[in-house]
Amino acid sequence: MFTIPESIRPLRDRVRGFIEAEIYPRERELDRPWHDALPVLDELRGKARAAGLWALGHPADIGGHGLPMRDYMYINEVVGRCEPAMAVLGTNTLQSALLLRQYGTPWMREAMLLPLVERGNGVSFAVTEPGVASSDPTQLRTTATLQGDRWIVNGRKWFTSWVDRSDFVMAMCRTEPDGTPVHSAFSMIVVPTDAPGFRIVRDLPVMGLHDVLSGHFEIEFDNVSVPADHLLGPQGSGFKLSQDRLGPGRIYHCMRWLGLAQRAFDLLCERANSRHTGGRPLIDRQLVQKMVFDSYCEIQSSRLMVLHTAGLIDQGDQARVEISAIKVQCAHMVHSVIDRAMQVYGGEGMTSDTPLESMYRHARYGRIVDGPDEVHIQRVAKRIGALYNGGSAWDFAAR
Ligand SMILES: Cc1cc2nc3c(=O)[nH]c(=O)nc-3n(C[C@H](O)[C@H](O)[C@H](O)COP(=O)(O)OP(=O)(O)OC[C@H]3O[C@@H](n4cnc5c(N)ncnc54)[C@H](O)[C@@H]3O)c2cc1C
Repeated sequence: MFTIPESIRPLRDRVRGFIEAEIYPRERELDRPWHDALPVLDELRGKARAAGLWALGHPADIGGHGLPMRDYMYINEVVGRCEPAMAVLGTNTLQSALLLRQYGTPWMREAMLLPLVERGNGVSFAVTEPGVASSDPTQLRTTATLQGDRWIVNGRKWFTSWVDRSDFVMAMCRTEPDGTPVHSAFSMIVVPTDAPGFRIVRDLPVMGLHDVLSGHFEIEFDNVSVPADHLLGPQGSGFKLSQDRLGPGRIYHCMRWLGLAQRAFDLLCERANSRHTGGRPLIDRQLVQKMVFDSYCEIQSSRLMVLHTAGLIDQGDQARVEISAIKVQCAHMVHSVIDRAMQVYGGEGMTSDTPLESMYRHARYGRIVDGPDEVHIQRVAKRIGALYNGGSAWDFAAR
């Protein structure tokens, strides 16, 4: 049931071949800040487009290949083996593209969505705010007030990824008056980054990462004025849109983390076989065998969970419990597998002579980005608990 379908295998092999031949050898060159890495990135993106490997997960009507979620899983787990591959193959825009495709007006489609997919960057997403526990977005302080036919936006956001290369920011703002039910009080407002009053305050240092996919910024809206038609989706639907964007995004992260874990597992097992102490390879030591065993179990179980979730989504199920569960499970899994591989590499595993230390830093923030573990754990428990509270049950066999 979970073997790679023959219909998708040739494409998967091509993606893997491209990553191994074109991206792995240039990984160090891409492990630099955006502007420094741009010439290499542009060159590789050109090759990816020419090879027909651009934006594979995007719907066909916006320039992608329109793969079903389960098929895309088999592709995206290969993409995940190498962090910059996401940027090279134009898959990093998928979350924002899906949101704009669903809710964008015709001008947004022309000015934002199509260029976003074609260029591989151009739109950022801003929910999180400094000084606010943003995993509870009811507390967000940024406001947008309708004055005549214009929204006036004020506030600060941070961790706004890739805004230095974006023409637009989709910002979650409080738009409704006090007394409005809080989950209907926010809207998503589109702000051009060249609007007067918009400012990048600073580039946030994140885990010492400076690769092409880094770039997380604090930004400010100081009386920024945008036309009324810069409202994305219905007024008051900020919460829904935010969840609509983040939900599928979480499963895409999980797919890529499986690929990252596969690479770490390969490195772990190769090293355990080739490194000797006391006249024996490390793989003969029980403590190292346990690392291989634990990693095998964690990767395999996570992979089956992600495939199962992808299948549910293909059937039209929102799979909210499953998505929250895999987000937590996979973030821990990839962190642990990379950690073990680093351990088996000894001191070398701490250096950038192997890709492991960079992989580790990327993996660590997985437990926080798009909602910390604790929030997802709580959601799963609440949803399942409510079933039992209502006299029903969570039936694994029915999912
Ligand atoms: C690399 C990176 C990129 C990011 N990109 C973006 C982006 O592009 N756009 C954007 O808007 N945001 C982005 N974020 C922000 C990210 O989504 C938030 O950091 C995350 O949602 C948590 O919000 P917070 O930092 O305010 O943590 P807080 O809400 O302050 O939570 C802090 C901690 O409190 C605990 N906690 C919170 N809630 C509960 C609970 N219910 N029960 C128990 N414990 C709890 C958890 O341990 C949590 O980690 C990015 C973050 C990172 C690290």
